[in-house]
Amino acid sequence: MTTSKPTVLLEHYLKQLKLPSVLREYAPMAAVCTKDRADYPTYLLRLAERELLDRERRAAERRVKAARFPVVKTLDSFDFQAQPSINQELVRELMSGEYIDRHENVLLIGNSGTGKTHLATALAFAACQLGRNVRFFTVTGLVTQLLERREDRQLERFLKQLERCHLVVLDELGYVPCSKAAAELFFDVISRAYERTSLLVTTNLPFEQWTEVMGSERLTGALLDRLTHHIHILEANGDSYRLKQSKGRQRRRTSSSPEYNSIQED
Ligand code: ADP
Ligand code: MG
Repeated sequence: MTTSKPTVLLEHYLKQLKLPSVLREYAPMAAVCTKDRADYPTYLLRLAERELLDRERRAAERRVKAARFPVVKTLDSFDFQAQPSINQELVRELMSGEYIDRHENVLLIGNSGTGKTHLATALAFAACQLGRNVRFFTVTGLVTQLLERREDRQLERFLKQLERCHLVVLDELGYVPCSKAAAELFFDVISRAYERTSLLVTTNLPFEQWTEVMGSERLTGALLDRLTHHIHILEANGDSYRLKQSKGRQRRRTSSSPEYNSIQED
């Protein structure tokens, strides 16, 4: 089949205008619209909608990539029944992302394996879908980067990059104590984010023990003051999901093993 001149030109213009979805869909959509007896504005509307939706989806994908989540997790796969201590209503409210517009922070506090990182990722993933710029760090990862950037005289640039985020996740505060220099750099991040960028912090430590990580009571006080001024706290004080799952697996293995069955039969 030979392609007509208007079609060649049209495709060329659509490429120039960067309308890939219109380019892909204009012919099949024309067939659908003919069948539906849709008028020209409806045809154009359907194409414009397709382009817009695809553009939003691509932008969200870019934001998820830029956020650098270690593993993408969503709320769909979170079992609230397994962790009844978590305030489900608050989680659902936070999914709307309004706290980000108000520059408020979120703290997820609880033992290891209670789903803090999962929920933090799910909230941050939702923020990406809502058009917000997000970065995910473990606290140790961030501190290492801060020290490296300072060494390379790139610290200011890096902090400016962080300032362009609407939401920064700081996962696992409290697992490793910071050096004095690291604590000061970390404080700088919190302080610059104050009332500008939302922070989503996960920790296994109650506030009283933060001084042990930060090293200085004065710095911890100033940090907590800024972090907690506008904050939503989600507490998870149930059992570890990982532990429960592996215990469940072990139980299933034991009960289905032949030796176990034969012992039962004996
Ligand atoms: P934490 O950060 O509190 O140590 P994680 O969020 O890393 O815990 O959870 C450990 C593992 O268990 C992850 O794979 C996570 O997806 C899963 N998990 C934890 N809690 C739940 C839950 N309530 N429903 C579904 N998966 C969960
Ligand atoms: Mg975690």
